[in-house]
Amino acid sequence: MDITNDFPTMSGSTEWMADAACRGVDTTVFFPDDPRISGRYAEARLVCAACPVRTACLDWAILNRLPAGLWGGLTPSERHDESSRRGYPRVCDRCGSVFATPPRTKRLCSPECLRAHTTARKVAWNRSSSNARND
Ligand code: SF4
Ligand SMILES: [Zn+2]
Repeated sequence: MDITNDFPTMSGSTEWMADAACRGVDTTVFFPDDPRISGRYAEARLVCAACPVRTACLDWAILNRLPAGLWGGLTPSERHDESSRRGYPRVCDRCGSVFATPPRTKRLCSPECLRAHTTARKVAWNRSSSNARND
């Protein structure tokens, strides 16, 4: 993938990207269409496992709360767990607010954000499966 793309709004140094093992690897390997499907990240995990800048990549992804894709060898959900282990505050994927106890999902702060997130994902998946049918 083109990991040297500009990340102008992101925090932290991105110098480690120069040594990223995923440079040139198909982006869809790290951002599968439907990340719920078991094993979808298997190929990306192999690339990350051998990456010399894995720790820096993971730290950066957690710092910037990247909501999608495999970074530093971890899925978004796994990064949330790692972030909690480090004692960082939970931040809602949907509205960005800091929260303590998740209602039903560790990544969203309230039933309202959960509903909005689910609706947005359904729309996106319907659009992508409709595009796939039309290919
Ligand atoms: S850890 Fe994975 S996503 Fe991060 S730079 Fe290395 S290969 Fe790319
Ligand atoms: Zn929220």
